[in-house]
Amino acid sequence: MRYVTYRMPDGTVRPGVLEGDGIKTIATPTLRDFVALAPHERAAWLTHDDLVPLREVRLEAPIHPARNVFCVGRNYLEHAKEGARASGRDLKLPEVPTFFTKAPTAIAGPGQSLHLEARVSSEYDYEAELAVVVGVRCKDVAEEDAMRVVFGYTALNDVTARDLQRAHLQWFKGKSLDDACPIGPWIVTADEIADPHALDIAFRRNGVEKQRSRTSQMIFRIPRLIAELSKGMTLLPGDVIATGTPEGVGFARTPPEFLADGDVMEVEIETIGVLRNEVRIA
Ligand code: MG
Repeated sequence: MRYVTYRMPDGTVRPGVLEGDGIKTIATPTLRDFVALAPHERAAWLTHDDLVPLREVRLEAPIHPARNVFCVGRNYLEHAKEGARASGRDLKLPEVPTFFTKAPTAIAGPGQSLHLEARVSSEYDYEAELAVVVGVRCKDVAEEDAMRVVFGYTALNDVTARDLQRAHLQWFKGKSLDDACPIGPWIVTADEIADPHALDIAFRRNGVEKQRSRTSQMIFRIPRLIAELSKGMTLLPGDVIATGTPEGVGFARTPPEFLADGDVMEVEIETIGVLRNEVRIA
């Protein structure tokens, strides 16, 4: 199933589930509330209202986690290589995942224009990523049990201010600016993706392909990421884990390419779909 959050013309925002070209409304206040329900409780919250035509609403970010978005740095070998090359560092692969986070205020919806500020950064960059949505409160999850805590998957663009990322040493600031975390367009449930490590992932800027890889190229796969992140730390329903980006990002190109006002970015992930956002830089 494909879960969405949508905005009606009157401004009302509701969660729902796609049925053809319509949306069946869910009665919980948010999609995160729905995800937090036990699986056997969820059906009772699906309404029997008429389907809302998809064309009459605007999709919003499908979910807002209760806290920061979890991310993994350098989780594709070719991206780790290009990053080391562009920064003049030796390639040193981590033995555990490099976790960092993005502030929840950075989250933006599919189709939304991203308002990035020229006074804050002159080096905005893109990163196409597969994101995992956690379905249950959990801690110390073993790798072999990890897929059971996954509610579903969505696409995420880890928009990054490279100059801030460098200047602040910690990546948090350069990763957390407003509108720097578009996600969507929906969450595809885990039962519809038999193997999340067998998906094509691509990024296009103004229709020109800049990234193309397979999620099989992840250095740390999703079970390992969940096991490491949940070790001694509780995960919550609705938590989002961005699993890293493949090679082809702007700063590592020769010459480097950064986002410009009016650019259209598309993250495409097999089975999930396309997350499209226009960039507005002023
Ligand atoms: Mg990233």
